[in-house]
Amino acid sequence: MSINIKSLIPVLEAQWTGSDSDVFVDHISIDSRSLQNGSKTLFIALSGVNNDAHLYIEELIEKGVQNFVVQYIPENVKGKASFLVVKNTLQALQEFAGYYRDLFIFPIIGLTGSNGKTIVKEWLNFLLSPDYNIIRSPKSYNSQVGVPLSVIAINEKHNLGIFEAGISTVNEMVKLEKIIKPNIGVLTNIGSAHDEGFKNLEEKIDEKLLLFKNAAVIIYQNNKLVDECLVKLNQEYFSSERVLFSWSFTDESADVFVVKRVNEDETTSIQARYGNEIFDLEIPFSDSASIENAISCLLVMLYLKYDAETIQNRFQNLYPVQMRLEVKNGINNCSIIDDSYSSDFQSLKIALDFLESQQKKNASKTVILSDIFQSGFSNEELYTKVAQLIADNKINRVIGIGSTISSFAAKFSNCTTFQNTAEFIAEIESLNFENETILIKGARSFQFEEIVSLLEEKTHETILEINLNSISHNLNYYKSKLAANVKLMVMVKAFGYGNGGLEIAKLLEHHKVDYLGVAFADEGISLKNGGIKLPIMVLNPESTSFPSIIQYHLEPEIYSIKGLKAFLKIAREKNLKDFPIHIKLDTGMHRLGFEENTLDELIETLRGNSTVKVKSVLSHLSTSDEERHFDFVRSQIRLFETLSVKLITALNINPIRHILNTSGISNFPGAQYNMVRLGIGLYGVSNDPAEQKYLENVGTLKSIISQVRTIPAGDSVGYGRRFMAEKETRIATIPIGYADGISRLWGNQVGYVVIKNQKAFILGSVCMDMLMVDVSEIDCKEGDSVIIFGENPTVTEMATALKTIPYEIMTSISQRVKRVFFR
Ligand SMILES: *Cc1c(COP(=O)(O)O)cnc(C)c1O
Repeated sequence: MSINIKSLIPVLEAQWTGSDSDVFVDHISIDSRSLQNGSKTLFIALSGVNNDAHLYIEELIEKGVQNFVVQYIPENVKGKASFLVVKNTLQALQEFAGYYRDLFIFPIIGLTGSNGKTIVKEWLNFLLSPDYNIIRSPKSYNSQVGVPLSVIAINEKHNLGIFEAGISTVNEMVKLEKIIKPNIGVLTNIGSAHDEGFKNLEEKIDEKLLLFKNAAVIIYQNNKLVDECLVKLNQEYFSSERVLFSWSFTDESADVFVVKRVNEDETTSIQARYGNEIFDLEIPFSDSASIENAISCLLVMLYLKYDAETIQNRFQNLYPVQMRLEVKNGINNCSIIDDSYSSDFQSLKIALDFLESQQKKNASKTVILSDIFQSGFSNEELYTKVAQLIADNKINRVIGIGSTISSFAAKFSNCTTFQNTAEFIAEIESLNFENETILIKGARSFQFEEIVSLLEEKTHETILEINLNSISHNLNYYKSKLAANVKLMVMVKAFGYGNGGLEIAKLLEHHKVDYLGVAFADEGISLKNGGIKLPIMVLNPESTSFPSIIQYHLEPEIYSIKGLKAFLKIAREKNLKDFPIHIKLDTGMHRLGFEENTLDELIETLRGNSTVKVKSVLSHLSTSDEERHFDFVRSQIRLFETLSVKLITALNINPIRHILNTSGISNFPGAQYNMVRLGIGLYGVSNDPAEQKYLENVGTLKSIISQVRTIPAGDSVGYGRRFMAEKETRIATIPIGYADGISRLWGNQVGYVVIKNQKAFILGSVCMDMLMVDVSEIDCKEGDSVIIFGENPTVTEMATALKTIPYEIMTSISQRVKRVFFR
């Protein structure tokens, strides 16, 4: 793409402020962190309720970006770059994408539905790629932002597009239709997901079908409701004639009728009738969702006039789709980003941005990359572009695997190549992977999953999966409750409440929270060592840690005269000036803090002292979630007001004041002062069931089944024979125990795990490293996935049964449980 920005003025109905001459860009970005931003970038400053990209413009200008689409020009950047000023930047992104889409005339497949969109898209890409240069949405980029970003990646070499559109409420699809304008429409399974946004199923279907407004054909599973909606939409909105192309397991009048379906262990054979022809097809999956998705793909191939033999051949190799980028702990202090199932230019760009966002300080960056397929460009052009992209992302070493990339090794600055994966694996020891963030990205045929499994740290199968998007969602939810100019401190003590300290801190830093809070100095030091620049308050600094607090620029909370004097002594010795400290007042919690009767001494000690500066004054509520104590909370807030005013007046200072924790934010909005301290809410837990609905689950504790056996009536299970089988019982052993943080009180049929969406109660006692569950009624086998907590059961449910609080459950998950972060 090369676009003269000024040609966009009428398209976006924008006002132009900036350079008089024509300006060309070849890259559109909305991500301020991307290292791909540069002088040829047009940065579109999206402005959400909570995250305003206008705040990053100054940084971006420093990094060389010259052109911006904005809603307003921030004071600090006036005259420093060129701006297209529009009413709404999201709308501008969408309008630009629609305009850009119209520059291309090749066929585009548009997918929507509640389930299966991403899988059908990936499979179609696989099935059709021998014949087309395909552009498709990366991963599941199907939102109001994801769709335009996917579409603007089209280039002149593509000759088929596959894009998915996802919506959660009415009036969203019209916008996505204008951007994708599919010629071939595919409606995947419509299920009941996202129903909250719609009055009923019919409204949801109506809205989804709007994607096909201008399509020449609509492919769908025969269904009365869909048919009715189509008739209605045909009359009301749709202009041109279109073909309906349907399939069914039950309705013989469908265009493709599945006559027979035979499930075997891992595969399914179907026999289908299409016109006068009957043909057989083997699908290498046995679950219903995969069969439906495969049949959607079949119809697209039939519509594109593929013959039965080609279809049969290509279907044999359908594979499980990896839906997302995953970060895993690697050997020798490496982190692994696993993207071992695809290699195309567009998804490489996205994976490199993800790598950057996961990058730890002092680690170097490595990319293991296979040959890249179906770009449409000549290899010379393609690998020149890839090498440029790798250079922009400041990748320290590249390992190319495959004969094509090997022949272009000279284009990369530090590149080792191998003809195939086996050759690489033979040499893996000598490559000395250590302290690196490694992106592993390869086409399926290269079987890079073998590389991932070699470089992955070997731990047991139990993991705590952390959804970083949910953390952002919860953060924004609480931000929306804050009055203007109220700052936000986020508590990341105890490894981010057990969810992972550094990774979460990095995300919070990107979201521009104002402060982080930790319990002890060493927690703060490890964040600073990891590259965190946000100010960090240490709640409980021991005197012995004062020197390192100063060395690492952590900010101590001072809660006693003794502590203050000790800190002042060191501060004087080190000749500090205005070193930030935080004064904690005890207003009723009776844990840490200056009480009313020590205030005068505090004032006298601080008066005239210039080695330290009181950055903030705080107190902590002893209860903010129990209505029966609300009067007490109000008295705490009143006392905080009195004491803090006294301190501030006597010292003539103007510090930040703060007292609210998570449930305080919800229940005492009038006491936000200048800052609040968010904790448990960020991690998706609220004490208030009404509020809980607005939060997203962050952590999912998962394991797998190690072994399954059936025991006869009368036999027992586990230590102490605490479970006696009354009848024949099928039991599964799960490799997680009390050493991982599962309370023994959860055993003996009090607690359960979830396998295949069904409850499996724990039989007998929880052991140190294992527990056994009842799977008599569950169709499961060794290796199947097991959920200990997450969306079901929730930590809150578990806490209630165990007579404790979610905080304890979350922070008890042992550090030997591997944390896996994903978006
Ligand atoms: C842990 C903590 C918080 C956060 O509490 P939540 O209930 O998790 O929101 C706030 N302030 C202090 C002093 C804390 O120790």
